[in-house]
Amino acid sequence: LAPGDIEHGQQACIRDPRRLRHLKEVHRARIGDSMTLGVAGGGIGRGELLALDEEEARFALSTLNTPPPPPLPVHLVLALPRPRMLARSLEHVTALGVKTITLLHSRRVEKSYWQSPELAPDKINGHLVLGLEQARDTVMPKVNLAKGFRPFVEDVLPGLLETRRGLLAHPGMPQACPRGIDEPVVLVVGPEGGFIPFEVERLLEAGCEGIHLGPRILRVETAVTALLARLF
Ligand code: SAM
Repeated sequence: LAPGDIEHGQQACIRDPRRLRHLKEVHRARIGDSMTLGVAGGGIGRGELLALDEEEARFALSTLNTPPPPPLPVHLVLALPRPRMLARSLEHVTALGVKTITLLHSRRVEKSYWQSPELAPDKINGHLVLGLEQARDTVMPKVNLAKGFRPFVEDVLPGLLETRRGLLAHPGMPQACPRGIDEPVVLVVGPEGGFIPFEVERLLEAGCEGIHLGPRILRVETAVTALLARLF
C-alpha cells in the first residue's frame, strides 16, 4: 500500500491498475479474503477484502504496526545486466534486503542496455516492489545509475569505502567470500563477461578486496544471491 491508499485509518483502497491486476491474477483475491498488507516505508498488518471490481480494491485494515524486516547493510554495485536479468536480479536482491543499488557501466556492458525501457523509474520500482512483497518488507532500496565507470570509481567509491568494507566479486581472486559478517559493505559484482583487467585493478586500488565464490562461474543473478546469502 502507498500511504495515500489508507482512508480514515481503517480502510485502504487500491486503484493502481498494475496492483489491481496483481491482486486478481497473482493472488487470485476474492471478497472476504484476509491478506498481509504493508504500507510503503511503514508497518505491516492484515486486510480483509471488502470489494473488488475493475476500478478498485477496498480492504478493512487491522493493526499495521509490525515493522518490516531489517535490511542488510549492503550497498550493491552491479554492472548493468541485460534487461531480462536486471529485472530478476533487482527482485532477488530486494527480497534479500539490500539498502542501496548502484547500476554501473563497465566495458563489457552493452551500451544499448542503458536505453532499455526496463530502466524507467516505474519499471525499476515494479521489480523492487515484487521483491519487497515477497520478503514482507516495505522499505524500497535506493537505486542510482552510474553511467561512467571511472567517475564512479574515482569520485564516488572512495567516499563509500570510508565507512564500509569494499568487496569485489571476481572469479580467480585469492580470497574466498567471507561468511557471516556483520559490518556494512559495498559489494561489487561484474557484468556477464566479467570486469576487464583494467577495471579490476582500479576497483582494487580504490580499496576493494577481491573475493571469489569457488571454481564455478555463476550467472549474475545467481552470483548476487549466493554472495548475499554467504556474507550475512
Ligand atoms: N567470464 C567472466 C569471468 O570469468 O570473469 C564471468 C563473469 S560472471 C558470469 C558475472 C559476474 O558474477 C562476475 O563478474 C562476478 O562478479 C560474479 N561471479 C560469478 N561467478 C563468480 C565466482 N565464482 N567468483 C566470484 N565472482 C563470481
